[in-house]
Amino acid sequence: MALKTCWKCEKQYAEQKSSCPYCGAKYIDPKEIKRRPTKKIESEAMKRQPTKRQRRRTLVIGIAVLLLLVNLWQMFALGEGELDELETGHTEADAVAECRRFIQAELGANGSVRFPDPGSEAVTYTGGGEYEITGIVFSRGGSGLETVSEFLCIVQYAGESDWEFEDLELTPM
Ligand SMILES: [Zn+2]
Repeated sequence: MALKTCWKCEKQYAEQKSSCPYCGAKYIDPKEIKRRPTKKIESEAMKRQPTKRQRRRTLVIGIAVLLLLVNLWQMFALGEGELDELETGHTEADAVAECRRFIQAELGANGSVRFPDPGSEAVTYTGGGEYEITGIVFSRGGSGLETVSEFLCIVQYAGESDWEFEDLELTPM
């Protein structure tokens, strides 16, 4: 009777049986065993494969880099576009000077106007060449009585050193 050897417990049993009667392991042809990679090789190969987390991290970094590139490209494109025309050629000091001139014309028609020290205004740049400026102005009318007012002045840069007045709100204090 021909015998075959169990690959697991190495005992011999009858050739017609499909599994080992001692340990229950299914019979595998020795040639088949040689062809299979050992467990060690398999685990080494698995180590070299990126894990799910590594793959996700790579994806996140990839997306971040892509978004950054899109941003840079947009900034560059806008810098050359007409939209950016009103973003340059003016300063906060220009805007404050324009507001002071406007308030002077509004309040000083029948009296006199004076401002606190230069730089006392609060300036907010709202984009596209528009500034919101708040501050205090002293005005003296025909009666000679001085009034202190809080002002909110909005000016818009119109390009080529031109300014437009958007709004002026005066609140006596
Ligand atoms: Zn066996």
